[in-house]
Amino acid sequence: MPIEDDRNLSRRTVVGGATLGVAAATSNAFARAPETTQPATGLKDPRSAGPKPPFQRQSQPWPGLAGKMTPKPDHGEASYRGSGRLAGRKALVTGGDSGMGRAAAIAFAREGADVAINYLPDEEPDAREVIAAIRDAGRKAVAIPGDLRSEAFCKKLVDTAVRELGGLDIVVNNAARQQTHASILDITTEQFDWTMKTNIYAPFWIIKAALPHLAPGSAIIGTTSEQATDPSEDLYDYAQTKAATTNYVRSLAKQLAPKGIRVNGVAPGPIWTPLQVSGGATMDKLEKFGGDTPLGRPGQPAELAGIYVRLAENDGSYTTGHVYGSAGGKGLP
Ligand code: NAD
Ligand code: MG
Repeated sequence: MPIEDDRNLSRRTVVGGATLGVAAATSNAFARAPETTQPATGLKDPRSAGPKPPFQRQSQPWPGLAGKMTPKPDHGEASYRGSGRLAGRKALVTGGDSGMGRAAAIAFAREGADVAINYLPDEEPDAREVIAAIRDAGRKAVAIPGDLRSEAFCKKLVDTAVRELGGLDIVVNNAARQQTHASILDITTEQFDWTMKTNIYAPFWIIKAALPHLAPGSAIIGTTSEQATDPSEDLYDYAQTKAATTNYVRSLAKQLAPKGIRVNGVAPGPIWTPLQVSGGATMDKLEKFGGDTPLGRPGQPAELAGIYVRLAENDGSYTTGHVYGSAGGKGLP
């Protein structure tokens, strides 16, 4: 059953635009990255800032749940601290239940934004944790489950977000379908279409629906991938959708700059998320996940949260048409 937005939500005190919801009540429920920050210097060693391979072999039915992964991904629940960088902003994040979308949603809320998340109905358990984290930050949370492969739903998603948030100025197109196939011969037309609809059509439909609501200063962010420039042999269909994402970021940035709307992308490398354990990677790849990067480990979604904030905030006003990578030293954005 979808979560109803709580209109009577009692907000925590907001001081100077900065929310005080720093330590989420949910923090104990999540695995923390090993404590690597040196108290004396404030330095955090990137080599040991997250779990390293080998990882336990594991598989979940698609789309997978973060809550059932071993180890559980770190989305910044216990660590992200806001400082009012998005005070008063209104954000819609697709795939906001888990992975990079969850990390962005939590960070946005702690930076002072109200946040609507979209996800699939099967992901309700993950989504509930995100909704709780947004509310713990003292912000309005709107849960809008539904399948992005439908143009009618994408339009309804934007309309609902605008209505419930009272406007919209950050749109994060982050949801995606990734399934590994050893051969192009294993990809059916239905599978190919599924990937294209989710990864290419949905952002097209969402941006078209959102544009009339976006005032100058608004930001559109697409999650692309290192796959856009260095595609894996077993991700034939997925990788080309990421090339398309990087490409639309660059063309739309030029088209929308005269309207004062910025468009940027985030290009993750191997990040520990449900997408990888629900058909996105082979068991062999999963066991060694991220081990071939110079940092020797996969990234955690929390390590990308600040990038989404940076691309959305007013201080990033000269940044448009760019793709910001985070890939442990190996991939290219
Ligand atoms: P994730 O599984 O946590 O997030 C993907 C989300 O997509 C799901 O939570 C789901 O809600 C959503 N989704 C998929 N199909 C949908 C549909 N038909 N309708 C509605 N929602 C749908 O995994 P993630 O890795 O955080 O993925 C987020 C983004 O990061 C994706 O764009 C992915 O391509 C990109 N990315 C991930 C990695 C990685 O290694 N994990 C690397 C590069 C890029
Ligand atoms: Mg999910």
